[in-house]
Amino acid sequence: MTFFTNQQLQSVISQLDQALYNHEQWYKNLLRVLIAHVPPEAPDLMPDAHRRCRFGQWYESLPAAFLQDYPTFASLGQAHEKMHSGARTLLQRTLDDLPISSSDLDQFNNVLDRMRLEVQALRHEFADMAQNRDPLTGARNRASLLSDLREQHGLVQRGVHSCTLAMLDLDHFKRINDEYGHTAGDAALISTVQCLQALLRPYDRIYRYGGEEFLLCMPGTTLDEACGVAERMHTAISAQSIQFDNAGRFLQVTASFGVAALAQSRSVEDSIDRADKAMYEAKTTGRNRVVAEAQPPAAGDALERPS
Ligand code: GH3
Ligand code: MG
Ligand code: MG
Repeated sequence: MTFFTNQQLQSVISQLDQALYNHEQWYKNLLRVLIAHVPPEAPDLMPDAHRRCRFGQWYESLPAAFLQDYPTFASLGQAHEKMHSGARTLLQRTLDDLPISSSDLDQFNNVLDRMRLEVQALRHEFADMAQNRDPLTGARNRASLLSDLREQHGLVQRGVHSCTLAMLDLDHFKRINDEYGHTAGDAALISTVQCLQALLRPYDRIYRYGGEEFLLCMPGTTLDEACGVAERMHTAISAQSIQFDNAGRFLQVTASFGVAALAQSRSVEDSIDRADKAMYEAKTTGRNRVVAEAQPPAAGDALERPS
């Protein structure tokens, strides 16, 4: 999954604004050709015109991973290509001194609207991400936590899937700051979130719950499976060598995990509380470990349909 820092999110948003501006310039020029009959730009008549315009050049320069992880990018590319194909038809008819039918024009306008909508959708998606991210680590902040979890809880209640939460807190983090400095502590937080992101599936979510405390939401995962995931994360976190200065010095961290089901028979707040209690249990029994909630819901609770 592509991981964006807040700075990268802002950069994608301004690139989209610039790309849209370039597209508008291109569109004005298209109208000049169609209406005022100035000569067309040669690249617009070529089969790969969508790669040659400035918008297309920007789109082609995007990393392949973006297109895989964000389906809106892929549909924008398709809409842009179709729009150029429609424009080419109009330009060719103008060059051949043939009239443009209203259906050709309507078809072009439809794909033009669709492409512009895709750009707006993408901008909205990235602006939304930027607003709901913790600027230091890129994890989600708490702004949308409860509403996201209520949505998941609703799906659990309807029997769509089970969902499990994990609370994790870095161990003796105050000592890390005291020993290596606050900037080194920040580097450890950033690195830990990146380490977790690498192990999460695209629909899993990670929230910065407090200073060095994170909440993971894993839809479609039973308590047992989530304990397995948490064990893998636990191992990966302690295996990190975090470089915290230019002198090539490294530090290590460990984390304590508490895992609890987002069960239909409980409130969202109760489920968070149980994950928190399990995490506290991990702390009091020696830290650097994963503990599952003490009283898991009865088998089938998560998937029972309400009557
Ligand atoms: P425990 O194992 O019991 O969790 O011990 P701890 O030291 O991790 O817990 P404590 O709550 O005593 O200290 C948490 C520390 O995390 C103190 C705080 O300064 C630090 N911290 C919180 N947010 C940040 C941050 O954004 N950056 C840095 N560098 N430190 C942070
Ligand atoms: Mg801590
Ligand atoms: Mg803490």
